[in-house]
Amino acid sequence: MKTIGLIGGMSWESTAVYYRHINEQMRRLRGGLASADIALRSLDFTEVVALQKAGRWDLAAAMLGEAGAGLAKAGADCILICTNTMHLVAEPVAAMVGVPLIDIITETARVLRADGRKRPLLLATRYTMEHGFYTNRMKALGLDVMVPDAQGRQRVHDVIFDELCQGSVCDIARMDYLALIEKAKAEGADSVILGCTEIGLLLDPSTLPLPGYDSTILHADAAVDFALGGRAAQAA
Ligand code: GLU
Repeated sequence: MKTIGLIGGMSWESTAVYYRHINEQMRRLRGGLASADIALRSLDFTEVVALQKAGRWDLAAAMLGEAGAGLAKAGADCILICTNTMHLVAEPVAAMVGVPLIDIITETARVLRADGRKRPLLLATRYTMEHGFYTNRMKALGLDVMVPDAQGRQRVHDVIFDELCQGSVCDIARMDYLALIEKAKAEGADSVILGCTEIGLLLDPSTLPLPGYDSTILHADAAVDFALGGRAAQAA
């Protein structure tokens, strides 16, 4: 089995989901006492958020790249950046680590396309919804991503940083997210991407008004596939 390297702590609330899901999948697939071989570096999220707010993506890339290189040195055979937002710097990080980086955008797009989706609503941080690194990549992969209007984007973003990343899961936030999904459905969305790794704490993708795709779970599944030498390992 290959070793999975996780760059986490962004926030740790979702890193815990990665850790649990990867191990649960490993047990499901291999049975008995099987668990995943994982190397984890969990960063202090306050430092990452300070760089995001300052627009210092270069320094954030250096921080994550150093963390990834450390994981590779510790034996990781692949690296996952356990957040959608920080895939803004996936390219420079991948160049620094020297082992394959399993990309959350690629993995999410692959599953949506396999299900025949074309026009997903993206719920994510404002960086992910507005910067272009995510929606442009999705477009190149054949998906025409919709985002909420400015007010909706701000609300989704604030819930992520002010509530979910701080361990608070509220019904009011859930209702607001559901209203945005209903609106997008009326405007032609055919699915919804939980494009922030904490949103799965708030919404169950199987109970939404549109077919839901949790990026955390899809990303973690790809890591398990890689570790067991499957498609993700062949592609890397
Ligand atoms: N975990 C979130 C994401 O998937 C947001 C935290 C961050 O800014 O990295 O985008």
